[in-house]
Amino acid sequence: MKGLLFTALTCVVVASVQAQPSRWQQRVHYQIDASLDVSKNLVNGQEKLTYWNNSPDTLNRIFIHLYWNAFQPNSMMDQRSIFLGKTLLGYDKNNKAVFDWDDRVRDRINNLKPDEIGFQKVQYVKIAGKEQQLVEHETILEVKLDKPLLPQSKTQFDIAFQAQVPLQVRRSGRDNAQGVRFSMSQWYPKIAEYDYQGWNANPYVAREFYGVWGDYEVNLTLNKEYLVAATGTLQNPDEVGHGYGKTTPASQSRSGNLTWRFSAPNVHDFVWAADPTYKLITRRPANGPLLYVVYKKDSIQEYNWQRMADTMQLAYPYMAKTFGPYPWKNYTFIQGGDGGMEYPMATLIKGPGVGTALHEWMHSWYQGLLATNESLYPWMDEGFTTYADTRVHSYLRKDSGFWYADAYDGYYRLVRSGREEPISTHADHYNTNYAYGNASYSKGCVFLAQLGYIVGEQTLDKILLEYYDQWKFKHPNPNDFIRIAEKLSNIELQWYKEYWVYTTKTIDYAVGDINLVNGKTELTIKKLGHMPMPIDVLVTYKDGSRELHYIPMNLMYGSKPATDAPAGAKWIEHGEWKWTQGEYQVVLDRNITEIKSVQIDPSLRLADVNRGNNSLVVPD
Ligand SMILES: [Zn+2]
Repeated sequence: MKGLLFTALTCVVVASVQAQPSRWQQRVHYQIDASLDVSKNLVNGQEKLTYWNNSPDTLNRIFIHLYWNAFQPNSMMDQRSIFLGKTLLGYDKNNKAVFDWDDRVRDRINNLKPDEIGFQKVQYVKIAGKEQQLVEHETILEVKLDKPLLPQSKTQFDIAFQAQVPLQVRRSGRDNAQGVRFSMSQWYPKIAEYDYQGWNANPYVAREFYGVWGDYEVNLTLNKEYLVAATGTLQNPDEVGHGYGKTTPASQSRSGNLTWRFSAPNVHDFVWAADPTYKLITRRPANGPLLYVVYKKDSIQEYNWQRMADTMQLAYPYMAKTFGPYPWKNYTFIQGGDGGMEYPMATLIKGPGVGTALHEWMHSWYQGLLATNESLYPWMDEGFTTYADTRVHSYLRKDSGFWYADAYDGYYRLVRSGREEPISTHADHYNTNYAYGNASYSKGCVFLAQLGYIVGEQTLDKILLEYYDQWKFKHPNPNDFIRIAEKLSNIELQWYKEYWVYTTKTIDYAVGDINLVNGKTELTIKKLGHMPMPIDVLVTYKDGSRELHYIPMNLMYGSKPATDAPAGAKWIEHGEWKWTQGEYQVVLDRNITEIKSVQIDPSLRLADVNRGNNSLVVPD
């Protein structure tokens, strides 16, 4: 009977965890034929966009991103940068004033000349041969449909566009600082995502992206001297050569141009880059995708590019084991852009730094595959990716310290700065770049690392894989993630999401009095911060033995397993700590004279903003 009951309960748990999310999502198919005039920096394109309205709503209009219109004087991106440039953050080591604008952007857009600006001009959008009414809102094109698009129906838009590639300022553009001729991100008219929260037609002010899931067939025609790297898999490698196929392009193409045919299944964006001095190398990790690394061959960094490629090959098995397998055929690291920026199946990176390469590739999981709305939840892609790249990098380096210390420090600095805003803030609308960056990357990373403290590391690992299984190729939100964490940990976590994501309340616990009471030791722990947490207290005795005293917090209605104890420490679980209660007494069986030290959270995973009061050494 007991055995039977256990089996029945197990089945219920498994069934509830594996229930697949039923939320609808829109779908697209892009067929793009584009030609690039490399001397005039102009793109002419024809786009057949098939759009499935899987929503329960009738759509009277759609929105299309025209990102490159941001690269014009007085654009919203320009205004935003100049405004942030007036915010003084402080002074650096040399007593030089530090302002909040992105150093790559500053007032550069304002100074672009007519042949340096970017633009995307849509000549028409047709449905069944009929031109639709267009209203341009700078980087967003509103298309008023002549006939409403009904629920559960599809339509095809025929779009003609011309674009001028801007001088590279932010992400996209020509002739970047490393001399890459074309970094072609955000380069085509791209339909905005419509989801259960409505349209996501965010004007481009330099921040985040969110796209519709679908398939891309992209044909790119340009000067045959250029090597092209892109999202997707090249369909005509032998025709183009350039290291992809067996032949050289000269033998195939008598005219001055080559057409590159790329196909990308189940992605939500498409990037490409082209340069006449690109070189291509490949790696194949065990049971992994084919990796391309494409960089300028005159680079003095040849050794570093090769080494980076080797490291990525080495890293993959751990990445797949920890975060789930990479599902596409290939992935391309492309030299281009202005730092590191993630796209489906590819990244633009300015150099061969291993940390950046790992970060961008891990974005294939956190946003490429688990396609969170980056504008609304930038911490779910940047924070989770920071957690992941830090973990992979630390694993490879066999780092013996606390792996996430940098992220915690970034978060603590943010708290001290007085500029913190909740990480639920829309990415475009933070008051400062500084707060956005530290909130999204650091506090978002701490969200996961600290979850390991709450539910235990082994459970966190299961959560990461279950999140992958349930939400890959979808648009998960914070609650979707938390629900998986709750089901796998058997711990209620709504309080964690509410405090950490929607407020700036902080955690501060302290060791209080320690007294001898009836031959036993009574240790007081104080809650000084507003955010409640479960508490680990490590007690070390003079004889060298150690005990981990674990106090779950009452809103959890559960506790983490003893496997989360530090090596060699005895696990002792106490009754729950009610969040309204300011102090908690831990009773230790042994005499106070036997105790050497007491420490709250020796693992450093608790984001306690004041660690100075976390430990006590008992004097002899
Ligand atoms: Zn990132």
